[in-house]
Amino acid sequence: MQNIFNFSAGPAMLPQEVMQQAQEELINWQGLGTSVMEVSHRGKPFIEVAEQAEADLRELLQIPANYTVLFMHGGGRAQFSAVPLNITKSSDLSQHLVTGQWSVGAEEEAQKFCRSSIVAKSKEIEGKMYVPKQDEWSIAEEPGYFHYCTNETVDGIEIDWVPKSQSGQVPIVADMSSNILSKPLNIEDFGIIYAGAQKNIGPSGLSVVIVRNDLIGFARKDTPAIFNYQLQAASGSMYNTPPTFSWYLAGLVFKWLKAQGGLTEIARVNQQKSQVLYKQIDATGFYSNNVHNEYRSKMNVTFKLSDESLNEVFLKQAESNGLVALKGHRAVGGMRASIYNAMPLAGAQALADFMKEFERKNG
Ligand code: PMP
Repeated sequence: MQNIFNFSAGPAMLPQEVMQQAQEELINWQGLGTSVMEVSHRGKPFIEVAEQAEADLRELLQIPANYTVLFMHGGGRAQFSAVPLNITKSSDLSQHLVTGQWSVGAEEEAQKFCRSSIVAKSKEIEGKMYVPKQDEWSIAEEPGYFHYCTNETVDGIEIDWVPKSQSGQVPIVADMSSNILSKPLNIEDFGIIYAGAQKNIGPSGLSVVIVRNDLIGFARKDTPAIFNYQLQAASGSMYNTPPTFSWYLAGLVFKWLKAQGGLTEIARVNQQKSQVLYKQIDATGFYSNNVHNEYRSKMNVTFKLSDESLNEVFLKQAESNGLVALKGHRAVGGMRASIYNAMPLAGAQALADFMKEFERKNG
């Protein structure tokens, strides 16, 4: 089989070593003669997997003891609703920084459950997308929570600074679906962090939620039980049957990350990978990226060809060179190279080399 570099935005490629291990133990896991997806979530073997995965995640992200980790159903979007259901009353206000498709989605969902407002939106300045800093926001009243998306998967916008609550009272809620575990974090900056799994964690169907304990216990009466943080926390995320295979595989990914040297090391490689690509994009004007340097995503590198009539041939030739899933999201067009943790530097380099050669032939 030809060596493929898969640039899919999600579900995305997983580390090869992890996939190999999963394959090796698929039908005879831990010598039990059965697969991990065929055993009870309440049995000792699976409980050990579940607890080890949490311990490894806590170690990787340095999660303090006053935060609970939940492994929930429903991907990233489930949390668009779970957050307001768990921490607001319908008269409360949620405040949103809107920087692309996913933060829009979170704001629209919040509207169903509480009042909501937008403090600022990303905007184009001299052809580049920029995120207004906190001193440029309009804030009329203190909200029940503040929400933003640390990495906009579709738009390729990543925010490295963390908004601060002026009074210290407003929980900062972050959708980290597409950049969690890509670099070290200060968990204490946040009230709630959530992430759908299918980019940097494991297979889809799972979401990881990291919630500060003082925010647990305020769910509305009509909150569906499986989205209730208190019920899930009290039952070790097993109020109902969790997505066991995704949880197991996430555990393998966390171990792989530790073996890579943890998040400082993975951040260094992620920086290198994105630099290789942005350097190629910026080289001549044949390609372009429309995000201000400060906000260029290290996970989703978006770019356009100056002659968009070449898009189809670019994608076709990339694919025949083993570089797959580069088509940009239908909402924005162009190209997108998603280079999550599992993408090796060699993959980013292979794409940059291909782009250079494609330009030489078509420029
Ligand atoms: N937030 C972000 C940043 C995402 O990239 C995605 C999915 N691409 C979602 C939320 C929604 O996730 P899900 O499809 O798992 O509900």
